[in-house]
Amino acid sequence: MGAPGCGKGTQSLLLVDAMGISSISTGEILREAARKSSPEGLRLRRIMASGGLVDDNTVCDAVISRVRAMELASRSLILDGFPRTVTQAKKLSRVLEALGIDPPLVLHLDVPNEILVQRLSWRRQCAACGAIYSVASGPLTRCESDGGPLIERADDNEEVILKRLEAYEAETLPVLDYYRRRRDGNYRRIDGCLTTAEIANDVRGIVLFDGTPVAA
Ligand code: AMP
Repeated sequence: MGAPGCGKGTQSLLLVDAMGISSISTGEILREAARKSSPEGLRLRRIMASGGLVDDNTVCDAVISRVRAMELASRSLILDGFPRTVTQAKKLSRVLEALGIDPPLVLHLDVPNEILVQRLSWRRQCAACGAIYSVASGPLTRCESDGGPLIERADDNEEVILKRLEAYEAETLPVLDYYRRRRDGNYRRIDGCLTTAEIANDVRGIVLFDGTPVAA
């Protein structure tokens, strides 16, 4: 978990590579749904372009149907960008409890707002594989691993970035409190200002030490 631009997507991809854990990103699922030229696609495009959050029912249904369709390599799963509201977090707790699965290990990548705004405006993403790059140190146009074109996300402009940070503060910070306060809470704060490699190291250490994956 963490604010837009904190490195959730990057670290999630690295964890998938390093540990073979499956991952789902609600942002990616919703962007895919928003590309459809249906009234629902248009509704999602409008919400996401405004920097607001998509309603809880749509997001929870999308997560549940994606998880059902996945062949999980183990019973561990990375949820990138979910839950983002207390309603989503409570729903997740109920579902996990009903399935007899441990409460989530919550990794919070903590980054100050001024750094987030800068990182998001420099961010580019491979249209083919989703790899994330920064143009901070010079222009980049192609993905290093598959040569796919690097694109700027439609919601990575300054006006929308500020709206996304507002939504994060209003809706998602309370979720971090929810996990900090739960008796069975497994909340860990990670300094998201370290280098990508240092953060990946911290993440792997915590997942190996505290992840307690349930045997398949
Ligand atoms: P992300 O790729 O995680 O930055 O998400 C991009 C956009 O998708 C967000 O700004 C929201 O509009 C929407 N979104 C992603 N995940 C959620 C969620 N869990 N709840 C509500 N909206 C979400």
